[in-house]
Amino acid sequence: MPARTGEQYISGLKERPREVWISGERVDDVTTHPAFRNGVKSIAALYDMQHNPALRDEMTYTSPSSGQPVGLSFLIPHSSEDLVRKREMMEHWAWASCGMMARTPDFLNAIFCAWAGAADYYAQDRPEFKQNMINYYEYIRENDLTLTHALINLQRTRNPTLVDTLSESVALSVVKETDAGIVVRGSRLLATLGPISDEIAIYPVGSHQLSEEAKRQSFSFSIPCDSHGVKFLCRESLDMGGSHFDHPLGSRFEEMDATVFFDDVLVPWERVFLLGDVTLCNKYGDATGSNAHTGHQILTRCAVKAEFVLGLADLVVKTLGSGTIPHVQERIGEMITYRETLRACLRASEADAALNQWGFTSPAIGPLGAGRTLFGRTIYPRMMEIIQLLGTSSLMALPSDADFDTPLADEMNRYLATDTASARDRANLFHLAWDVSCSSFSGRQVLYERMFGGDPVRNAIILFNNYNREPFAQKVSAFLQSNN
Ligand SMILES: Cc1cc2nc3c(=O)[nH]c(=O)nc-3n(C[C@H](O)[C@H](O)[C@H](O)COP(=O)(O)OP(=O)(O)OC[C@H]3O[C@@H](n4cnc5c(N)ncnc54)[C@H](O)[C@@H]3O)c2cc1C
Repeated sequence: MPARTGEQYISGLKERPREVWISGERVDDVTTHPAFRNGVKSIAALYDMQHNPALRDEMTYTSPSSGQPVGLSFLIPHSSEDLVRKREMMEHWAWASCGMMARTPDFLNAIFCAWAGAADYYAQDRPEFKQNMINYYEYIRENDLTLTHALINLQRTRNPTLVDTLSESVALSVVKETDAGIVVRGSRLLATLGPISDEIAIYPVGSHQLSEEAKRQSFSFSIPCDSHGVKFLCRESLDMGGSHFDHPLGSRFEEMDATVFFDDVLVPWERVFLLGDVTLCNKYGDATGSNAHTGHQILTRCAVKAEFVLGLADLVVKTLGSGTIPHVQERIGEMITYRETLRACLRASEADAALNQWGFTSPAIGPLGAGRTLFGRTIYPRMMEIIQLLGTSSLMALPSDADFDTPLADEMNRYLATDTASARDRANLFHLAWDVSCSSFSGRQVLYERMFGGDPVRNAIILFNNYNREPFAQKVSAFLQSNN
């Protein structure tokens, strides 16, 4: 099957019902359930974009195996130009959700591209794992599947090292090896997009290192979300069933986060990519280049999101007529600086891209890491604060869609209009500002940007331990010696 349509994605979900629980209810069909259906529609719209005649060439490329058009995010890049093409494709998808849906399918496509390009890495564990990886990558590319992932083992207790303290009765563990495959039991966090994905990829993450004793928790595999024994437990839905006018983001872009339980789940051998090798499990991210490739997808989305929020801030200021006030200008200036910083990091990662040891092109990871860290720690939370500071009471003086059909409509139209906007246009804009900066949808977005790429403290420790600061220390030493 070449690049899918939205309808094909939706039929795929219907044909393979998975075990999903939300607010005490077992979900029959995620494509029609109010908690998920609008998120499903938004992902479907991305697939449809691949068939838009005006965009098709930017969204797809010719499959080397089938000769059919397949999603461009599956391309294993061999030049900076390939990276730029991929980024432009990913920008189209990111803009479709204003940067709010972080787990659009290109996220995991980028990871599996890198892993397939570096398939020899997996052969170091067992020779057959190399072909498993290549076959799986080709399978998801040719079937244009949507993947989720859950990397973190639930922990009962924490310790200050980067090595997690895992309990066999909690962490996802291999309980048996059979002729058919491995059997796993336990739990994992946190499958964003999980209930509305086709497949779930399970692998470790560098910020939560595995100890030498954790051989039974050391693996990488991917299976269908409807595999027997896989259960998704969702948080409450942020789609409150409101109109697009009242909840412009929540009513469209609920991507859902779910804890995943594995009740003796069989993982067929052909879906296993690593097993029992702690070192290979701990090191794959940098060694295969997948950290750089996900970083490229992530920072592309972050730049789009920053641009969306900057555009929103601009409209807020124009609508309220506050653009002549110096500190308002300063805040917009601050946002512009953030946007430029993110774009500069993205561009630097492409400009400094290089062939890696596996023979394909990886973007430079330094600027990607810097951009991602700044975005989660500082830029995004601060941009939300600025929207609140600029919007102030207009985020509260906010009639709903239904209010415009009441006897208060005359008063609303008379008193809530500004010099540049009707009352309805103002309400339309500030519902968006609310959903971006104050609603429960917005709170989850800030939490997501802070945490999804791993705890910032752990990430900073990794940077401290790995970053080569020696050249700079030597310069300072040389300067000090010149004093003697
Ligand atoms: C909205 C959202 C979506 C997410 N989506 C996904 C997803 O799709 N897939 C996925 O796999 N994961 C996802 N995650 C999980 C994310 O990767 C983790 O939240 C993150 O890695 C931190 O792990 P934790 O939540 O277990 O934190 P915890 O380990 O519970 O940390 C709790 C606190 O203790 C501190 N702490 C604990 N141990 C250490 C240590 N060793 N060193 C320093 N500080 C420590 C932390 O700084 C933090 O303040 C998501 C998270 C969120 C919030």
